[in-house]
Amino acid sequence: MNASLDILPLSSWINTEGKPLVIAGPCSAETEEQMLETASQIKKEGFAHVLRAGIWKPRTRPGSFEGMGEAALPWLQAAKKETGLPVAIEVANPQHIELALKYGVDILWVGARTTVNPFNVQELAEALRGVDVPVLVKNPVNPDLQLWIGALERLNQAGVKKLGAIHRGFSNAQETKYRNSPMWNIAIELKTLFPELPVIGDPSHMAGKRSLLFEIAQRALDLNYDGLIIESHRDPDKAWSDASQQLTPPALAEMLHELHVRKESYPTDYQSQLEVVRGKIDNLDRELLENLANRMSLVEKLAEYKRDNNVAAYQVDRFREVLDTRAAWGKSLNLYPALVDELFKLVHMESIRKQTEVMNQINA
Ligand code: PEP
Ligand code: MN
Repeated sequence: MNASLDILPLSSWINTEGKPLVIAGPCSAETEEQMLETASQIKKEGFAHVLRAGIWKPRTRPGSFEGMGEAALPWLQAAKKETGLPVAIEVANPQHIELALKYGVDILWVGARTTVNPFNVQELAEALRGVDVPVLVKNPVNPDLQLWIGALERLNQAGVKKLGAIHRGFSNAQETKYRNSPMWNIAIELKTLFPELPVIGDPSHMAGKRSLLFEIAQRALDLNYDGLIIESHRDPDKAWSDASQQLTPPALAEMLHELHVRKESYPTDYQSQLEVVRGKIDNLDRELLENLANRMSLVEKLAEYKRDNNVAAYQVDRFREVLDTRAAWGKSLNLYPALVDELFKLVHMESIRKQTEVMNQINA
């Protein structure tokens, strides 16, 4: 399906002075004091453009802390007034939107558990019709790019033009080192389909623990993300939600300081060096394809021989041998094993397809 989004650039609704957007704040607003203290520390460190806080918390199991609700909105208002920073919260239904706007919330985000449900997203979209507020859409909990795109489209079609995506990772079927697996390729595909769409990384919810935050944040910047949303709490270990992934504002400042922000374009001498290397890569790719074409003509010969001797196109022993020898050759060339394995599975599949085609053509 062809897709396009009619959106305004990030710079039209927030000034980050050319730097990646940083949204920071506690997972949840817990008490007025916690909110104000955390906000003022964040302001003091000077790295953030926006304050975040969870007001209504979508929890997997009942009985966990589900957020302070409307009572916390005046605290956010106070934090905004004290720091001068715009504030962002998650909204999951039209009533949340109404309250957020009533209390002067500047930016809304749609949580991962809401993005999965098109009925729910459509209700939000209707409630946002005619409202000029930026909305960020977290990826759905399950790795489904179409659902993510669908949510962005529903909001966009309701007139939300200050739109962005938050990549927070996808829930795991198996145990992994991540709380939510990044599956970077899904976000990269989103960026490729919608180059104008701001994409913000959420290392906190991918990591689930402090020790992983840096590498994930760096990866997001390496992929040229437009910003980061990271949880920060004045006393992380005592946080009422997501305690193990939050950083104190000073620790977050230090981490952000260590990150390398990659340039979007290159100075001219780099540009020409880059072009030389890219030219070499183009040549090698051409050779790679020529080799594949040569290989395919040999496969055709093989098919004719098999046909004349009435031999099946596929022999399991040969397939194993191909995979094993190539794996060993790849290893000696320091190639990533999965690359070699996938590549030769594909090549072999195409070889079988070609052979059956040749055999059937002659038989017909
Ligand atoms: C959050 O940002 O605190 C949150 C609940 O995130 P997600 O929707 O990504 O789980
Ligand atoms: Mn959280």
